[in-house]
Amino acid sequence: MDFSAGFPNSPGGRSLNAIDRLTALFSRLPGLGKKSAGRLVYHILDTDPSYAHALGEELLAFHHAIRRCSRCGSYTAEDPCPICADPQREPLICVVERAQDVRVIEESREFRGRFHVLGGLIAPLEGVSPEKLTIGELLARVRRESIREVILAMNPTVEGDTTALYIQKVLKDSGAEITRLASGLPVGGDLEYADRLTLSRSFRGRIRMS
Ligand SMILES: [Zn+2]
Repeated sequence: MDFSAGFPNSPGGRSLNAIDRLTALFSRLPGLGKKSAGRLVYHILDTDPSYAHALGEELLAFHHAIRRCSRCGSYTAEDPCPICADPQREPLICVVERAQDVRVIEESREFRGRFHVLGGLIAPLEGVSPEKLTIGELLARVRRESIREVILAMNPTVEGDTTALYIQKVLKDSGAEITRLASGLPVGGDLEYADRLTLSRSFRGRIRMS
């Protein structure tokens, strides 16, 4: 067996570069520092090569396999997404900041309407103006799909409040009722049972804005 791999001044120096490169790539993922990225890299080295192969193949095809739904902006394998294509969905739109929020709400099973992903929140200091978000598309959808109620589900932060007030103004004459979740979305996509309960309470106790 060749134990030279991994030593910088050995003929295996090239292998070390590959380890460094993969560690650097992994450490760019949220929540992974250099140490945990390194652990993952060595785990992959210790695992059957078929795993690395499968991982590589999935990553290569990933951005081709998943795209944004042209109607709601959530991530999907088909366009329109299964939610937009479902005729049983009620004429309500839940407006969320990020695509992963759709999954959180879907998993709570509290809401049987449609979604709209804004792609961020209004933040003038960071250069995010309303035009950079999908608010114009939202107004068009509310009219085209005869939406009865628009539920604003962004978090109650300064940016969330600013965005909610702006959308309320834009949709004022759209004919839809504007409501807001009582306590916003729980942070993070991984919902525990308690968070699910909070989310379901937020939906039931939503506040009328218009
Ligand atoms: Zn969709």
